[in-house]
Amino acid sequence: MNLHAANQNLSSKKVKRIIGIGAGPSNLSLAALSKGIPELQVQLLEKSAGPQWHPGMQIPDAELQVSFLKDLVTLVDPTNQYSFLSFLKDKKRIYRALVANRSRTSRMEFERYLEWVSKKLECVDYNVAALNVEFDGKQINIETSAERQSCDGVAIGTGLIPKTPDIPGMQRLGIHSSKYMTERDKMDFNGKTVAVVGGGQSGAEIVLDLLSTYGPSVNIQWINKRLIFLPLDDSPFVNEHFFPGYVDFFESLAQPIRGYLSKYFCHASDGISTSTLERLYEKCYDLHAVEEFPNVLNLHVATRMMNADAMASGIRLQTYNEVTQETDVLLCDHLFFATGYGFQKPSFIESLIPGELVIRSDRSIEWEGQDTSPIHIQNSSVEQFSLAEPNLSLLAWRSARILNSLNGKDHYELEESQAALNFSIPQPLNIREIAV
Ligand SMILES: Cc1cc2nc3c(=O)[nH]c(=O)nc-3n(C[C@H](O)[C@H](O)[C@H](O)COP(=O)(O)OP(=O)(O)OC[C@H]3O[C@@H](n4cnc5c(N)ncnc54)[C@H](O)[C@@H]3O)c2cc1C
Repeated sequence: MNLHAANQNLSSKKVKRIIGIGAGPSNLSLAALSKGIPELQVQLLEKSAGPQWHPGMQIPDAELQVSFLKDLVTLVDPTNQYSFLSFLKDKKRIYRALVANRSRTSRMEFERYLEWVSKKLECVDYNVAALNVEFDGKQINIETSAERQSCDGVAIGTGLIPKTPDIPGMQRLGIHSSKYMTERDKMDFNGKTVAVVGGGQSGAEIVLDLLSTYGPSVNIQWINKRLIFLPLDDSPFVNEHFFPGYVDFFESLAQPIRGYLSKYFCHASDGISTSTLERLYEKCYDLHAVEEFPNVLNLHVATRMMNADAMASGIRLQTYNEVTQETDVLLCDHLFFATGYGFQKPSFIESLIPGELVIRSDRSIEWEGQDTSPIHIQNSSVEQFSLAEPNLSLLAWRSARILNSLNGKDHYELEESQAALNFSIPQPLNIREIAV
């Protein structure tokens, strides 16, 4: 919709104009589910030139780590026209998809689905970055890299920021996994040594991709600070932590207990999927044992990177083994670090809402204009909303909750799925009382 039409709608009021900043899965879900609510009109601003989903990690063969039913809409509105199944039907491949019977859809296909939704929604302005958010006492005004925009409410969905560990030389000499595919295509790793730091899913995918592309022509040093390459815990009871009821329960707990639970269950979201581990092990077996290239893939566990130094040719890494308590030196030509992502308060709201954000259960931020001009934020605090917050699992539920709040009444009935686990631990709870 163009600006003129949007402003006409505004002047006829009743309809609240909401601007979503960022058009990743979080805000696409919000926009898709808003289509059923005539009182809300959602427009998204996206700084990238077109639809994309983690382009730096669109590695061939990479898979979605959750069911495709955890798409933008299905779990709150199974008949919604923006579901993954509607996408398959529209693309005339729903029968073939059934026959293919993949347990997990590919990351590439999910990206195509997101692209399909964003085109169908016709509400995303690409190449538009939000720069500053202001309030004139009546409306919120957003200064952008294009036109200035006015609205009745804002939904921030700008995602997470790549994390660089505080290791001397890492930032300067290494490349974060979020840029892997773009950098890989510019480089030739034939006859080179590549160090990969990080023993989670992204590190594993990079190692697997290098081995699949270059075989024995590449030498890999894979550095993992954990004691082993741990699997993603995708087991049934743990998966109940991705239920709406658990998130509400989690939020009600005291901060130290939330911190304890997040640490204890971190492998529910931070580990390598079993299928990736199996493929890696098979590759190792073929290269090491069958083809007899024992030095192609070097696995360093319990190993911390201490620093990285530039040499006349290549990079020198100093490492420390937590088990043997010995230091070691590794030389490499290229360094990738797959060290995850974290939330950072977007700079564009700093002048309007200075300091730490106070976020309520409906994901609205407390600020002076909250009653007339709500500002919601998605995918922000793991500490407050649990490990499920950055995951796709509760995306639709979170969007529906925000839309219910914007609408002033429940458009979506958000039933609490019945969990097998009893989440309600009697209060007060002492961390020492929890059995490990
Ligand atoms: C490689 C990778 C794979 C993943 N796979 C899975 C998976 O299989 N299953 C799962 O559950 N979760 C997965 N995740 C977790 C992931 O966080 C979610 O899948 C999802 O991408 C979160 O969506 P989002 O919209 O909150 O953030 P993002 O996807 O990061 O989208 C944010 C968008 O905001 C835009 N933006 C940022 N700043 C501005 C600005 N100032 N103005 C305008 N636009 C802006 C960005 O360009 C971006 O498009 C994965 C994460 C990564 C990194």
